[in-house]
Amino acid sequence: MNKWEELDKKYIWHPFTQMKGWLENPQLVIDHGEGVKLYDTEGKEYLDAISSLWVNIHGHRRKEINEAIIAELNKVEHSTLLGLINEPSAELAEKLVEVTPDGLNKVFYSDDGSTAVEAAIKIAFQYWNYAGHPEKKDFINLGDSYHGDTVGAVSVGNVEVFHKAYKPLLFSTHRVSCPSFYHTRMDVHSEKEFLDALLKELEAYLKEHASHTAAMIIEPLCQCAAGMLMQPKGYIKGVRDLTKKYNVLLIVDEVAVGFGRTGLMFACNHENVLPDMMCLSKGISAGYLPLGATLVTDEIYNAFLGEPTEYKTFYHGHSYTGNNLACAAGLASLRIFKEDDVIAGLPPKMEMIRQHFNRINEMEYVGEARQCGMLGGIELMRDKANRIPFDPGLLMAGGICQNARKYGLIIRNIGDVIVFMPPLCSTPAEIDEMLSRLTKSMEEIFDRVRNRNMD
Ligand code: PMP
Repeated sequence: MNKWEELDKKYIWHPFTQMKGWLENPQLVIDHGEGVKLYDTEGKEYLDAISSLWVNIHGHRRKEINEAIIAELNKVEHSTLLGLINEPSAELAEKLVEVTPDGLNKVFYSDDGSTAVEAAIKIAFQYWNYAGHPEKKDFINLGDSYHGDTVGAVSVGNVEVFHKAYKPLLFSTHRVSCPSFYHTRMDVHSEKEFLDALLKELEAYLKEHASHTAAMIIEPLCQCAAGMLMQPKGYIKGVRDLTKKYNVLLIVDEVAVGFGRTGLMFACNHENVLPDMMCLSKGISAGYLPLGATLVTDEIYNAFLGEPTEYKTFYHGHSYTGNNLACAAGLASLRIFKEDDVIAGLPPKMEMIRQHFNRINEMEYVGEARQCGMLGGIELMRDKANRIPFDPGLLMAGGICQNARKYGLIIRNIGDVIVFMPPLCSTPAEIDEMLSRLTKSMEEIFDRVRNRNMD
């Protein structure tokens, strides 16, 4: 055990981590990164197939972003947005309004994905108060949704494994069926039938309850932290149409799927959806520094204007709201999107993922390998045909990801789903190499399962 592992194990409490298991097992210490590669303190090289934590889109230590942060650091290390303006946050807000769907014209900054969602929840609630409808205060969310870890964000989420411990602390929501065709228990036989059934269910609820509903929150196209659950085509457009029809705000959480992840700049772009609010983080600073943003329409922002005597104010903010260093990174990232034409360069990379996923889909213990642009999930099943999962105690996907380290691949699982989120800058050859290493690790673990079954 080297010095850092010793210090870590002595002092650090890791996120989402069963610490006993952490302490008992050898752990990797990352020393530095370069492009899509990470290096440990022993000098071993790894391909980073999860973009650090779905954040690093242009690669590690990208010169232009490093330089932008350093240039800003040499001007001022921090300047609050409480009562003052800083240059990078103003410029980034203009650019964010430009790149997001037309109509999202105001930016509220925060620190990460959870706080971007937290702000959206409070804005929605307060908006209806100011708009003369204080009775509209409830929220609709999707089955198996994940929107972060702060108490409000946990309240609008419901991934059982992450949230069940905190249930007594949470406000309640109305949950509509999870729009995953692979997992649905609805009696439907095609994606189209499924889509119709989902929208019918939502409309039935809205008809009765829109009068006391403030907003619906969705993670569009793919519910990532729930296990990369894909939605049927037309779903987000259908949800937008219905929420508009029944006068309920639509909040889209593009924390994970935003900034090119799904093949277009934002998931909403796939179905030309204009939400009332959009939550952003992760890729917003290309994974360099913590930053979140909640974009809203003029209608929402204007409801908070009022006369000075009315004290209409959004009572929310953080010490690091609109952090100038993070915003400088965000500006540099958006310049790279433009100069490198990042989105136009994605199709051959997505095609490489598609080819691998087609092969992976044929593997014995793979229930479904699903892809949406530059993200993917490989769900394991003990019995593929009957969709019977492995005993969770076997930690199958976790074992594959751990085993992949010996082949020089860093990748993570959520339950029995292996999550693939390579940096957008990965070349097709690098993606080929990542997925070949993953397949090798899967074959090895699957062989062990087969041998055990034969014993
Ligand atoms: N929303 C979504 C869709 C996410 O995937 C995440 C994080 N994985 C969050 C919100 C929370 O973001 P953070 O971890 O930065 O607070």
